[in-house]
Amino acid sequence: MNFNLTILGSGSATPMLGRHPTAHLLEIDSDYFLVDCGEGTQYRLMEHKLRPGRLRYVFISHLHGDHYFGLVALLSSLNLAGRQEDLYLFGPRGLVDILTLQFRYSDTRLGFALHFQETDPTQPTLLLDLPHLAVESIPLEHRIDCTGYIFREKPRKRKLIKEKLPTDMPIDYLRRLKDGEDISDEAGNVLYSQADYTLPAPPSRSYAFCSDTRYTESFLDQIAGVEVLYHEATFLDDLTERAIEVFHSTARQAATIAAKAAAGRLLIGHFSSRYKQTDGFLAEARSVFPETYLAIEGQTIEL
Ligand SMILES: [Zn+2]
Ligand SMILES: [Zn+2]
Repeated sequence: MNFNLTILGSGSATPMLGRHPTAHLLEIDSDYFLVDCGEGTQYRLMEHKLRPGRLRYVFISHLHGDHYFGLVALLSSLNLAGRQEDLYLFGPRGLVDILTLQFRYSDTRLGFALHFQETDPTQPTLLLDLPHLAVESIPLEHRIDCTGYIFREKPRKRKLIKEKLPTDMPIDYLRRLKDGEDISDEAGNVLYSQADYTLPAPPSRSYAFCSDTRYTESFLDQIAGVEVLYHEATFLDDLTERAIEVFHSTARQAATIAAKAAAGRLLIGHFSSRYKQTDGFLAEARSVFPETYLAIEGQTIEL
């Protein structure tokens, strides 16, 4: 199963040429999950050959424009393209009112069902529970209500050792072996033991998106051991006071969270436009957490 993350925007609120506002696209199995939808996100999708028609789930962290101004445009374009499949939208209180008002005054009638679920900024909530994946919200500390999201793959199946398997083994046996079951005859004698014919399941993949927040350890338990953590890093260390004032984080703070959560990798983004270069972010974060990478627009990370 695919579990790919593409960064579509790494900038923050002040517009800057060459850096776009926040949007991350996860491709899991055959579905697209869009996380935040800054201005121009539909163009970023097209630019990176990602078909907007494959979107099924959209998650919005909060109502600062750099995280959702692209949403009305994207939904309108999906409608123009004749979309009929249901779309699932998760986001803060008020988002659906904004959309309804815009659609009312443009006399837009969506040809598809838009299912909206309001996020709770005060406690982690299970939002999606699919057979292969669960998505929870993460309460963050920002100037307005804001939630991150964590995507966790459900436990994977054991791997069959193909060379060892008899060619005529029934499909049902294969399925049970992959589930970790032994195959026994009616008398209870083990015919095929899962330990002999399978290898342990590969680790489950996970991705946490922690957008716009000031430094807080309140969600450490929820993201403990996550494979890839995205944490905003709007400022460098010298502006820590400013970061606290405006409810944002520094690269060092993002790295501290990654280290305390024992994340596999850290991705940082939401860089303030006052920094024309991003090298400083990487150096500062790596001094605390060496497995840090910059969120580079257009880059796809395979989990
Ligand atoms: Zn922002
Ligand atoms: Zn914000």
